[in-house]
Amino acid sequence: MNSDVTENQGKEDKKIPKKFPWIIPFSCEGCGDCVEVCPTGSIELIDLGKKVDKAWITNPDTCIGCGKCSQACVVGAVQMTEYVDRAIQRYKEKKKPE
Ligand code: SF4
Ligand code: SF4
Repeated sequence: MNSDVTENQGKEDKKIPKKFPWIIPFSCEGCGDCVEVCPTGSIELIDLGKKVDKAWITNPDTCIGCGKCSQACVVGAVQMTEYVDRAIQRYKEKKKPE
């Protein structure tokens, strides 16, 4: 009874989120609300040696695109984008906000 096993064989069946958080570091005030609500620990505050720490997606692989970080941010520093590939690439290339 192995007729169905060839599908997805050898491929990790990981779901890519439909939307992904796009952080606008300039707008971030470092309150940490987004970090608190994230169920997967994908977003963290980064110390850049400035007055306030800035939120960043430090673990794009674990982000499920739930949007809770965006909803929690009262200043609109986290927007959900449909350009998921670009967003993931951004966080993989840049390990911290500028
Ligand atoms: S909730 Fe918004 S302002 Fe607060 S740390 Fe997160 S991105 Fe920055
Ligand atoms: S979209 Fe969800 S999982 Fe991804 S960083 Fe925001 S709160 Fe965390």
